Amino acid sequence: MKKDLRSYIRLLETQGPEEWVRVRKKISPKYEATAILYKLEREGRYPAVLFENVEGFQIPVIANVHATRRRLALALDVPEAELVEEYKKRESTPIPPQWVGEGPVKEVIRVGEEADLYSLPLLTHFDINTAPYVTAGIVVTKDPVSGVRNLSFHRGMLVAKNRLHMHLAPGMHLVRCQRNAEERNEPLEIAIVLGIHPAFAIGSLALAPFEVDEYDVIGGMLREPVPLVKAETVNVEVPAYAEIVIEGKILPHVREDEGPFGEYSGHSVGVGRHHVVEVTAITQRKEPIYQDIFTGHSEHRLMGAIPRESGIFKAVRAVAPGTRAVHMPVSGCCRFHCYIALDKRTEGEVRNAIFSAFAADLYLKLVVVVDSDVDVYNEREVLWAVANRVQADRDIIVIPNCQGSEIDPSAKKGGITTKMAVDATKKGKDFPERLRVPQEVLDRIKLEDYIGSPSRRGGSLRRGRAPL
Ligand code: MN
Repeated sequence: MKKDLRSYIRLLETQGPEEWVRVRKKISPKYEATAILYKLEREGRYPAVLFENVEGFQIPVIANVHATRRRLALALDVPEAELVEEYKKRESTPIPPQWVGEGPVKEVIRVGEEADLYSLPLLTHFDINTAPYVTAGIVVTKDPVSGVRNLSFHRGMLVAKNRLHMHLAPGMHLVRCQRNAEERNEPLEIAIVLGIHPAFAIGSLALAPFEVDEYDVIGGMLREPVPLVKAETVNVEVPAYAEIVIEGKILPHVREDEGPFGEYSGHSVGVGRHHVVEVTAITQRKEPIYQDIFTGHSEHRLMGAIPRESGIFKAVRAVAPGTRAVHMPVSGCCRFHCYIALDKRTEGEVRNAIFSAFAADLYLKLVVVVDSDVDVYNEREVLWAVANRVQADRDIIVIPNCQGSEIDPSAKKGGITTKMAVDATKKGKDFPERLRVPQEVLDRIKLEDYIGSPSRRGGSLRRGRAPL
């Protein structure tokens, strides 16, 4: 069976209302979808939501698909605790795509004047937005010099029926492809893919070198080759089972105002002079589902966390073999904060682990290292370790004037930032024992035998849990 957005939705439908919700009532694409997602989040609920009736459109909108670790783990068909381990494994076993010639994404083809971005239910997310945005678009292109294909997420601001203003984040491979085209005074041909399986999405976020064809990485993540068809108007291959594909070209030497946009930090980024996409065709399924990402919130952050955790884990374990777990929490925007659990062999190893983590990830701002008796997926536990095992003058390291993220609203110009590390591991041989109920008793006592099953307790204990 092909893994696409629909096969994943069928899986979610079996998972209950904490994972999957359908909204049948009519909503406006302007602020109302995000109002519902925001209110759910305030209640500690992060379901994927299908908005079936979007005012003014024939096409339903799905949002929040990637908002919990559990759903990302479901996408890779593993328990939540094995998500990063599985990601690492699949990242290193690429599977090349497969040419299929035709597919459902070609059921409706609109070329040139017929192609109209206003037919798609793009959402307006926040008060700061001045236009609707494509947020879940994965841009496929071919580097004009090497011919290597690249896939990456980029936001697109709707400005006309055939025009998007697009932000190409500096340092990303798409910028390099665009520059290579611009040097030849040529447009860069692209296709924007919308509506795919979440394993496809997190595969496209893998931190692969420029020379790597990301369709291979995505195939590895799906554990099946991505079936490809040719685009209609550009020299790019697109997934046969996508919901919608927008074809177009990034114009050379043209920059227009783009923004404001709600970034993963939860803040607005202002207006900048960014690239312009001229749309040449839209192809889609007969009854497509338009996918949106609830930017600035859980899913926007989490999607980026998995590849980063995988990268930091590899780097830290290389210098500290006792590394047990790496977690980038949603509270730290899944970019700025990282908790590392480590069985240290020597006192110095903690600092080596810290420097390795900072070297592996540019955006990282705070590293907290704990012993492996602390659950890094539980922030209350991490702060408990800080409360009990840290003396600030001894255990905090501050490194000023480093390169960090330009998205960090507190950073100096150009993303210059101060990095901080906290060694929250136990020091000294005579450190007191942590309280524990004997393991043999924990294994023997089943809660449901004493106070009823989780469902009879109303499930409220789980419901309040944030998607760390
Ligand atoms: Mn790439």
